[in-house]
Amino acid sequence: MLYIDNRFNVSDKNIRTVSSSGKIKKTVSVSAPLKSLSESGYIDNLKFKAHIKSVYDDICNKIDLNEQIRPKLEFDTMGAGAAGGFDNLEGKIYFDDKFLKQLSDKTIVFAIRHELQHVKQFHNMVRMLGIEKFEKLMACKDENCTENKSLNFEKINIEYYSKVEQVLGKINKDSPEGVLTQKYIDAYKKYPDLIKLWKRTDICMLKKICIFAHEVICNYKFNFLEIDANKAAKIFLKTFKNL
Ligand SMILES: [Zn+2]
Repeated sequence: MLYIDNRFNVSDKNIRTVSSSGKIKKTVSVSAPLKSLSESGYIDNLKFKAHIKSVYDDICNKIDLNEQIRPKLEFDTMGAGAAGGFDNLEGKIYFDDKFLKQLSDKTIVFAIRHELQHVKQFHNMVRMLGIEKFEKLMACKDENCTENKSLNFEKINIEYYSKVEQVLGKINKDSPEGVLTQKYIDAYKKYPDLIKLWKRTDICMLKKICIFAHEVICNYKFNFLEIDANKAAKIFLKTFKNL
C-alpha cells in the first residue's frame, strides 16, 4: 500500500499514458535515486526521524488509533518513486526519510494520514473475515482459496492481526461498516503489486517503466483503497487546519 506522490519533482523520466478506455491521460514521475547523506547530515537526519515519529504519534492520537494496535513506524528506502507505505503483511509502516525531507509539512501529514487509512482498511478486513480467511486473502488475494503454497503466508504477522481482532472486535457483514469493508476486500483483489513489479529483472528498464506507469495510472490511482485513503487524508487536513 504505497504513497506515491506524483507532484514530486526529482524525476528523470516523465511518462504519459492513456487508459484502456482511451480517456484518461496523465503523467507519472519516476524519481531518480536520491544522493546519500553526508556525515554532517547524520545528526540532522536523526532529529528529522524523531520529528516524523512524533507527528505520527500525534496523528494516531487524533484519529483514536489504539496504542496496542498502532503499527510500528520504520524508515527504509521504498524505491519505485514512493514516499512510504503500509506493509499489510507485516503490519508495519515504512517511510523513506530522504524522500519525506523534500516534501512540505502538509504533504507529510497527508502521507501519514493516507497510510493510516490503509491500516484501518486492513483492520476492518480482519475484523470481518476472521484471521483464517484474512490470511488467505492476504496470501492469495482470495479469502476462500484452498491452496496454501503462497510464500506470503509466512510473512503475515498473525500476532498483530489477532490483537487487532481482539482489541477492536468483529464487524458484521450486513452492517454499514461491513458493506464498506466488502468494498475494501474487492479493491484489494485488484490492487497491483508495484514493489514486486519494480524489482523484476526479466524485462528491460524501458518496458518496466511503461508497465509500471500503466499499473500506477489504471490500477493504483483509481483503486478504491487509494481513493478512500486520499479522501481520509483530505478530511484530516481540513479538520486540523492548524497543523
Ligand atoms: Zn496508498
